[in-house]
Amino acid sequence: MNDQMPTFVRYEQGETPDDWDLEDKIFTQDKSYKCPTYIQKTAPCSGSCPSGHDIRGWLAIARGMDKSPVEGQAWQEYAFAKMTEANPFPASMGRVCPAPCESGCNRNEVDDYVGINAVEQYVGDWANENNLKLAEVGAATGRKIAVIGGGPAGLSAAYFLRRAGHEVVLYDANNKLGGMMRYGIPGYRTPRDMLDIEIGRITEMGVEVHLNTTVGKDVAIDTLEANYDAIFWALGAQKGRPLPIPGWEGTENCIDGVEFLDAFNKGWVVGTAQKVVVVGGGDTSIDVASVARRLGHVTNVAKTEHSDGSVIDFTAQDTAGVLSREGMQATLTSLFPIEQMTAAEHEREDAKREGVDIRGSVMPLEVIKDETGKAIALKCCECDMKGNAPVPREGTEFEIEADIIISAIGQAGDFEGLEAFDNGRGFIDTDAGYTVKGHAKHFAGGDIIKPHLLTTAIGHGRVAAATITDFLDDGEIEKRPTIDLHQFNLLEELHARGKEPSAYDHQPTRGTDSEDFAVHNFDNRSDSQIVKHTELYKGHFPYEAREVRDEVHIEGDNVLGNFEERIIAYTEEQAQKEGERCMSCGMCFECDNCVIYCPQDAVSRVKKSDRTVGRYVETDYSKCIGCHICADVCPTGYIKMGLGA
Ligand SMILES: Cc1cc2nc3c(=O)[nH]c(=O)nc-3n(C[C@H](O)[C@H](O)[C@H](O)COP(=O)(O)OP(=O)(O)OC[C@H]3O[C@@H](n4cnc5c(N)ncnc54)[C@H](O)[C@@H]3O)c2cc1C
Ligand code: SF4
Ligand code: SF4
Repeated sequence: MNDQMPTFVRYEQGETPDDWDLEDKIFTQDKSYKCPTYIQKTAPCSGSCPSGHDIRGWLAIARGMDKSPVEGQAWQEYAFAKMTEANPFPASMGRVCPAPCESGCNRNEVDDYVGINAVEQYVGDWANENNLKLAEVGAATGRKIAVIGGGPAGLSAAYFLRRAGHEVVLYDANNKLGGMMRYGIPGYRTPRDMLDIEIGRITEMGVEVHLNTTVGKDVAIDTLEANYDAIFWALGAQKGRPLPIPGWEGTENCIDGVEFLDAFNKGWVVGTAQKVVVVGGGDTSIDVASVARRLGHVTNVAKTEHSDGSVIDFTAQDTAGVLSREGMQATLTSLFPIEQMTAAEHEREDAKREGVDIRGSVMPLEVIKDETGKAIALKCCECDMKGNAPVPREGTEFEIEADIIISAIGQAGDFEGLEAFDNGRGFIDTDAGYTVKGHAKHFAGGDIIKPHLLTTAIGHGRVAAATITDFLDDGEIEKRPTIDLHQFNLLEELHARGKEPSAYDHQPTRGTDSEDFAVHNFDNRSDSQIVKHTELYKGHFPYEAREVRDEVHIEGDNVLGNFEERIIAYTEEQAQKEGERCMSCGMCFECDNCVIYCPQDAVSRVKKSDRTVGRYVETDYSKCIGCHICADVCPTGYIKMGLGA
């Protein structure tokens, strides 16, 4: 949080009103003849959201500035429709997205970021409670697309392809859809009833789903090529990487984190060993360690259907307290110092509070085994990182006792039967637009091209669906914009409210200020420009503390068997209040500063019958003297001085 009061920053840096030439500024016209133009730019929050949300747009709805064109529609429903233009999983995102948008938010420069993620959760939950549906399916195109993998990337692609009117057939190897949202992330972070609703909305759009079907084994690539106009590969990264240390390979109680969580989420794992060591540092390792800690040590192990010696030696049935548990010890080691671990800070803090012993700057050296070949400890040393390479500190070797060692150091794709697509490093290589290199009509996205986040996989699905539609049109794929997001579109906004400009008569005109076939002096540069905080008049915004979402803090003693959700959603009032904190970077938010401060009365509000978001103020260029004051006092950076007339 920024603890410096924003309004006084200039003074503290030594600037005084004497430094401003007000006389010149207000009363002498600018010789450049520049007059205000209204420029829509991308807000940095959206620029940092991999799924491409129009965040500013839905925050404007939350605070009541943008009202639905549909009479009587609740603001939450309108916001949900806006959100799902980019991402059909607001309730999931609002819980587990690490919210890069908040790190990018310009409000960090004033006091603290806007609670974007929490508003997203509030709207997503409201939509679930009120049984809201997604947008209509597009008019049928007669094209048929196979989507391989029903995780976030595949589901997002299926959704956007259905919106475009294509038939979609989705194959997944598992017996339920959701990918890592269901089989990786534990249910106390992505509750399964919530997942079922968000996924069900997509399949209800008419997606043909084939579960328990592994492409490459049950369906051949040739069959797909013969039956579909395009194929989207969204296989995810299903294979955990082994620890590259002596003693790992072939040791039955050394397993990877994906395997462990998959087994747990399928209900096969209940108890783990007394002492678990998890090696990693990213989200997966935190989830592994936290799940292990919740499971506790089972003294009374029920027989499972999968007693195959790896995960399952430490597993049993059901989490519901059928089994008696004792406390156990979960240690999580990371090569990086704790504060540089890739897992989100709040996840780290929760894990620590719940009793996971997190140790940073630790390098695994060797698996120590007993005479039966079972791992009993992990030999490590302290280390320093040089870039991404660990450098051991001499003489610091130590051992951590372990009944099971779990490697959560990264994942790659499983290419059994699909070897032709493997780039040799366990991923698929794509060009921009997610076309698979060297394979016509094949596209790929999500973790299988580069493991990252849910929101990233969803963004890939959205853009790939657009690229596929473009490809099916004429076989050519147009270059995507530099900033490839779902953007506010003024013409659509005017159209939705029956206020579109009249048809252009193709007659020569001088300027557009008195014409009604164009929106005068408005330009949309959001596909190439992001508005910086230095372009905003930040003094407009008083200090306003962020609404902090409550969390259920589970202390170490109560963690065993506790799989309840931790995050407590905003109330409606909190969501609206947070919407008000948004500074609407790059878009007018109707504050009237330019109207009030213009010394020439050249700026006025657009008449009420013509007004919409993005069309609120206009300038009479015959009165404007180009003094720049309107641009200086515009809090949102929306006014840029351009050529007049
Ligand atoms: C433990 C864990 C915790 C995580 N925590 C977070 C988090 O908190 N926040 C966050 O944003 N991200 C998190 N991630 C990352 C996130 O889950 C992934 O980036 C995301 O799920 C990738 O989506 P995807 O659709 O590409 O792949 P996946 O979600 O892996 O889905 C791939 C799907 O393809 C199917 N499949 C694979 N091969 C075949 C085949 N041959 N035939 C048919 N189907 C096939 C699989 O069954 C699966 O359903 C986490 C990941 C893990 C493993
Ligand atoms: S999906 Fe993630 S990055 Fe995008 S708006 Fe939501 S919280 Fe922010
Ligand atoms: S203040 Fe609002 S528009 Fe600006 S970056 Fe933050 S959330 Fe986005």
